[in-house]
Amino acid sequence: MTELVLAAVRQPGDAEPRNLHLRDGAVAGISTGEEFPAGVEVVELEGRFVIPGLWDEHVHMTQWALHTNRLDLSGAASAGEAAAVVGSRASAGDPSVPTVGVGFRDALWPDVPTLEMLDAGTGNQPTVLISHDLHCVWLNSAAARRYCVEPDATGLLREEPAFALTRELGKLPDSVVDVWVREAALKAAARGVVGVVDFEMTWNSGPWLRRIAHGFDALRVDAGVYPEDLERAVGSGMRTGQEVDGGKGLLRTGPLKILIDGSLNTRTAYCVDPYPHGGHGLLTVSEEELFGLLVRAKEAGFVPAVHAIGDAANQVALDAFERAGTGGRIEHAQFVQAQDLRRFGRLGVTASVQPVHALDDRDAAESNWRGRTDRAFPLRSLLDSGATLSLGSDAPVAPLDPWAAIAAATTRSRGDGRGPWHPEQAITRQQALAASARGRGRIGVGDPADLVVLDTDPFSVPDAGLAAMAVAATLLAGRFTFDAGLA
Ligand SMILES: [Zn+2]
Repeated sequence: MTELVLAAVRQPGDAEPRNLHLRDGAVAGISTGEEFPAGVEVVELEGRFVIPGLWDEHVHMTQWALHTNRLDLSGAASAGEAAAVVGSRASAGDPSVPTVGVGFRDALWPDVPTLEMLDAGTGNQPTVLISHDLHCVWLNSAAARRYCVEPDATGLLREEPAFALTRELGKLPDSVVDVWVREAALKAAARGVVGVVDFEMTWNSGPWLRRIAHGFDALRVDAGVYPEDLERAVGSGMRTGQEVDGGKGLLRTGPLKILIDGSLNTRTAYCVDPYPHGGHGLLTVSEEELFGLLVRAKEAGFVPAVHAIGDAANQVALDAFERAGTGGRIEHAQFVQAQDLRRFGRLGVTASVQPVHALDDRDAAESNWRGRTDRAFPLRSLLDSGATLSLGSDAPVAPLDPWAAIAAATTRSRGDGRGPWHPEQAITRQQALAASARGRGRIGVGDPADLVVLDTDPFSVPDAGLAAMAVAATLLAGRFTFDAGLA
């Protein structure tokens, strides 16, 4: 039995601080005054603010962990500069794990990359740099030996040889990936995250059970299942929401993820109106197939999470939910026709949205959905029509940081001088926080002791400070997973 008092803490809106008594992973009591039971640990919070623990409802955790361990070369103005950046990192590297850089734009460089230039700074550390458009890699001699490729004097590979090498880079020992996942999870905890829905495209519970067996306890994880693994999952007795880690309370089976269209940036999101260059995008699963999957999910106890970005894809998904008589989630819901908005609430379909994408995709939407962007990323319209919203990042597409999502959802702006994009679709901070905390608002007795402690009131901090909101501590089931020096 673990017991802890968070003393003198305020919920946003409270005039007076109170004490939260945490016991066995839950909020056991809320009191006033300065008297505490003997022998109980008390952490003085001196009037700081406490809110429910935050969730990222859509991540690809392994991809995010790999991404955070790759060097960002998007700012390198020349080949020489890129080589210098990786050279400074390579000296601290582990030769068994290649150094990987991403995002370089050699078309803009005044100088020409050479094998010799990259070798000079990186020596025996295998080093592979991947271009912004992914169609080119620049590697050193150590990487060429390791991956048995023979680049010419430039050290560059293009097209298929570049893709093949990029695929090889994703194959790392579990021990390396697990350490990186743990580091990424601790960074998320430092932003107030207590849980993630992981849609990594694999048999997801396997790696997570291994990590938990090795001591991972930084986050709760709902591990998504893909259709190719559905019968295996059903046969193993799994269903959405059920714990699978033998009572540790960290790992549950997540939703059944079904992709039915592509993306806006590749113009494969399935849309009612044609793209300016022609075509409506792609519906990658037939309506009958989708219906069959939803029926099977319903009878097997799985919550379907249907990836639908274009307005036609959202319509197809909602039609299938209606016909199958089941609720669930639509992942992304980036572009929704007016007549479909109210169907989310009516059918019990949660809109799982990534507000940072609205800012990332602003220009792509303005050109591809020209004249119709009043219903792009329609967070306010969805809420007003009765939908439940859940916020997430789709990391690594956007960083795993709920405050970035909350800031984007409430301001529709990066605060970079460019005005807000469709500010009429902004939601309130209260709504954005609840959508980042599985609907939790005020903390009450009996709630899980998944909590975030903040130095400032999240409702009064200026817009400009919201994305970088400082977190003082994070607790998962009454245990500190992050602490900036309080406990
Ligand atoms: Zn995703």
